Amino acid sequence: MSTDIGDAVASPSVETLDRLRRIVGAKGVIDDPRDMEPYLVEWRGFWRGPAALVLRPVSTQEVSDIVKVCAEAGIGIVPQGGNTGLSGGGIPFEHDRVVLLNLGRMNNVRKVDALNYTIEVEAGCVLAEVQRAADAADRLFPLSLAAEGSCQIGGNLSTNAGGTAVLRYGNARDLALGLEVVLPDGQVWNGLRSLRKDNTGYDLKDLFIGAEGTLGIITAAVLKLFPKPRDRRTALAALPNVDATIRLLDRARAATGDQVTTFEYMPRICIDLVLEHVAGAADPFSRAFGHYVLIELTSSAENAALGEALENLLAAAIEDGLIVDAVVAQSETQIKALWKLREALAEAQKHAGASIRHDVSVPVSRVPDFVREASRRVDAHLPGARIVGFGHIGDGNVHFNVMQPPGSDSAAFLKRWSEINDIVHRCVAEFSGSISAEHGIGRLKRDELPKYKSATELALMRRIKAALDPSGIMNPGKVIQP
Ligand code: FAD
Ligand code: ZN
Repeated sequence: MSTDIGDAVASPSVETLDRLRRIVGAKGVIDDPRDMEPYLVEWRGFWRGPAALVLRPVSTQEVSDIVKVCAEAGIGIVPQGGNTGLSGGGIPFEHDRVVLLNLGRMNNVRKVDALNYTIEVEAGCVLAEVQRAADAADRLFPLSLAAEGSCQIGGNLSTNAGGTAVLRYGNARDLALGLEVVLPDGQVWNGLRSLRKDNTGYDLKDLFIGAEGTLGIITAAVLKLFPKPRDRRTALAALPNVDATIRLLDRARAATGDQVTTFEYMPRICIDLVLEHVAGAADPFSRAFGHYVLIELTSSAENAALGEALENLLAAAIEDGLIVDAVVAQSETQIKALWKLREALAEAQKHAGASIRHDVSVPVSRVPDFVREASRRVDAHLPGARIVGFGHIGDGNVHFNVMQPPGSDSAAFLKRWSEINDIVHRCVAEFSGSISAEHGIGRLKRDELPKYKSATELALMRRIKAALDPSGIMNPGKVIQP
C-alpha cells in the first residue's frame, strides 16, 4: 500500500513545536522516544509511524489552540483515543511530519441527565467508564465491545464502533445525540444537543462520526442512555449448519418480543482456538458441533420471564431441527464462561498464527450464502487455509478471517494479503455488502476503497474533506487518498 500522505503538510519548525509545548505544559507533552513508543505502534505491531511530538491536552480549549497553531504552520495532526483500532487510523504514516494528539486526559463525565436518558462525556473517557457512569445513574449505556477497557468514546464515535449489542441498540452513530468538535482551523463547533428530534438542516454530527479523525477532532459527546436490564438470560446453542443461524435469529426475535440483545456466531474452529490458546476457557458441551450461536436476551422489566421465553425458544428450535443442543447459563459465573468463548477469540487468534482479516457485512438474510460462497472461493484458491468466520451475525457482520495453513510460513502467507482480500471483497460486493462493517478504513483499506465505491461517492467524500479540511492537515492520508 502507498504511504503517500500528500504534499499539504509541512515539517514542524522548532518554534512551532515550542508553541505547541507551551499550550499543554510539561504534563501534556511526550517527546522521549521510549515514552512515545506506545502511542506510535499499533497494539498488534502491524503499523508503526513516527511523530514530532505526542500531545495530551486536558481541555477543548487546549485542543483548539493546538489545532490553530498546526493549521497556521500546515502541520498534520493524527488524533488518537485508546489505540485499539484495527485499521491503523490512529497511527501516523512512516513519516516524521505530524504531531500525534491523544485525547486520554480529557476523561471527565460532564453531566448525566437521567430523566432525559442522556450522558455528556469528554472524548477521552474510556468506554467502560461511560458504562459505569451510566450504571451509577441506574441507566444503561449499551455500546459494548471486547476492547471496552481501553478504547475511548471519541475513538468509538470516530470509527462508528459496533460490537455485541448493535442488534438491539444500534452502533455508536445511533447512540450519539450531539458532539463537540474542534474543526481543522481550530474553531470549536458546539453541537452538544441532547435532543431526540432536531430537523434543522444537515446533520453535521454524522459527518464526524465514522470519519476516523479526518474531518476534525471530537472533544465531547452527548450519548443516549437506556433503562438498565433487570433480567438477562444467556445461552450457547449448537446448530447443524450455517443456514440455521439466521432462521433461529428470526424465530428468537419474534418469539421474545424482540428482546435479543446479542446473537454471535462461531464455527467450531473458534471454540477450538479458544480452548487451545486461552487459559480458563471450557467447552460447555460434552461433544463438538459444527456451528454455535451465543444468544443473550435482556429486559428492563424485573419479571420479564426471559428464562421461560429462552427455554421455550430453544425447545421449539430443537424440535424443528434448527438447533441440535443448547446450554443455558444458570449463574453469573456461567454467563461469563459462555461469553469468554466469544470474547477471547481475538487473543486466541493472535497466538494461533497469521490471519488475513476481513471485517465485512452483507444483508442479514444473505449471511449463510455469503459465508458458504466466500469459504468455497478461498478454499479453491488456497487449499488448507483455515476460515475463521465469526461475529455479529445478527447485524450481517462477519469477521471473515483466513488463517495460514498449518505448518506454512507466516511471512509468505501474509504476502498474499491483497490477493485474498480481492477474493473475499469481490464476493462481498456480489452480495451487496460492505468491505468494512465496523473497523473502518484507516490505513488498512484506504487503497481498497476505490475498488468498491462508485466514482460519484468517492468524489462526494473528497469534496466534503476539501470543504472542511482544505489544507489536508487532519489525519493526513487516512481513509481517502490525498
Ligand atoms: P483509536 O484506535 O485510538 O483510533 C481509531 C480512529 O479514530 C483513528 O483513525 C483515530 O485517528 C480516530 N480518533 C480517535 N479518537 C478521536 C477523536 N477524539 N476525534 C477524532 N478522531 C479520533 N470495534 C468494533 O467496532 N466492534 C468490536 O466488536 C470490536 N472489538 C474489538 C475487540 C478487540 C479485542 C480490539 C482490540 C478491538 C476491537 N474493535 C472493535 C476495534 C476498536 O476497539 C474500535 O475501533 C474502537 O472504537 C477504537 O477506539 P479507540 O479509542 O481505541 O480509537
Ligand atoms: Zn466485531
